[in-house]
Amino acid sequence: MSEADISSKEILSKVLDSLKTKVSEFNYNNWFITSQWSLDDARKVTILVPNKFVRDWIMENYLEVIKFEFFKIQGQEYEIIFRVDSRTSQLELPTTAPVAQNKSVQTSSLASRAKSAGLDNRYSFANFVVGNSNQFVNAACHAVASNPAKNYNPLFIYGGVGLGKTHLLNSIGLETLKNNPSWKIVYVTGEKFTNEVINSIRYDKTYDLRKKYRVDCDLLMIDDVQFIAGKERTMEEFFHTFNTLYEARKQIILTSDTLPKDIPNLEERIRSRFGWGLLADIQAPDFETRCAILRKKAEADSVTLPDDVCQFIASHVKSNVRDLEGSLIRVSAFASLASVPITINLAKEVLKHILPGFEPTLTIEGIQQNIAQHYRLTVADLKSARRHKNLALPRQIAMYLCKKHVKASFPEIGQKFGGKDHTTVIHAVQKIRKAVGEDSSFKDQIEGLEKGLNP
Ligand code: ADP
Ligand code: MG
Repeated sequence: MSEADISSKEILSKVLDSLKTKVSEFNYNNWFITSQWSLDDARKVTILVPNKFVRDWIMENYLEVIKFEFFKIQGQEYEIIFRVDSRTSQLELPTTAPVAQNKSVQTSSLASRAKSAGLDNRYSFANFVVGNSNQFVNAACHAVASNPAKNYNPLFIYGGVGLGKTHLLNSIGLETLKNNPSWKIVYVTGEKFTNEVINSIRYDKTYDLRKKYRVDCDLLMIDDVQFIAGKERTMEEFFHTFNTLYEARKQIILTSDTLPKDIPNLEERIRSRFGWGLLADIQAPDFETRCAILRKKAEADSVTLPDDVCQFIASHVKSNVRDLEGSLIRVSAFASLASVPITINLAKEVLKHILPGFEPTLTIEGIQQNIAQHYRLTVADLKSARRHKNLALPRQIAMYLCKKHVKASFPEIGQKFGGKDHTTVIHAVQKIRKAVGEDSSFKDQIEGLEKGLNP
């Protein structure tokens, strides 16, 4: 084994160790244990996953965390690439142009232009499902994409989290690129824009920043623009950028979580400009639209989704399309990992945490694991007969929590703590109960532990 191998292994294990402390054990076992990581070169990591669902799940939930971990440990940004074990997914567009066919050259160049504009190829008009909740905003986006800077400038889209704002911005960007291949399209989040402004000041690069946003830009999209509120220099920069582009008849599209009037700490001159064009809201989808979104997503991922399961998910996950998709991914991932078909019972089991009246069922084993982890002990320590106070107190707390949260008798609990006598358990429970009653900081500590108990 070469030295490079050893160091890349070390880096990976550091990152994985650190991830372990960031995600629940359940998620770690489900999503990370099943994947294989390799460090391709100094800045590229390939994660081999068993299927598309695991990939989507990790990408959706942990990509930023993973990147951050690499950055923290190595002090530089890593590119994270996912590969699905079986056949390559259609979502993985080639990044370099294949030579053979004309058609793929075109697709690939659109893909790479989209990528360099900061766009995500997965979010297009074609896979955006239209219903009552988003009909108006969808029409506005189509109008802007086919006739930029003609009718609605700026287009200001507002609505809650996970309702499709970013998806629509991407769709407009992709469509515009398709229609005007030479256009310079800039997509940026309010947060990234803010960081760029800060860096441009810090490194004396305001010229570059202005060139990028005011000169080399035919279409500017700022996602979650509410983020710039309260940041003086960023608002100033935005204000002049807006004016320059607007006067040059360049399209500006913005999204926000609320109406301009409800964004706190926003300069008045910016607020009024937000309203110069068209304000379009996006609302939570109704039941039928939620079903249609699930169908579309299932189709795209070649998942067989029975009607009853589709309706079951749609009737329980209501306010956020991201959660809706997450639920489908979760159900499909479990079915796929366990090699069983998707059924209503499977869905009920896998999604029980979102069902009304759900109370996580805690077990003695679960509590032991949680407490051991919290006190950096092993479950064997808790079960042992050793009486050192570093062990005795956590053990007594664990027994107390078992009595409180699990329907188990004193002898049963004693049995599961290495075969201890039931009087030992009774003593522990009484002692902790008393301490909770008398010592408010201890009570807080126990309540904190209780909140963190994962079944
Ligand atoms: P927002 O930016 O409003 O927080 P996103 O655009 O990121 O929301 O949407 C969250 C997820 O839901 C994305 O995966 C997106 O593709 C999906 N989504 C939202 N609305 C729709 C829709 N109408 N049709 C298909 N997918 C949708
Ligand atoms: Mg968004």
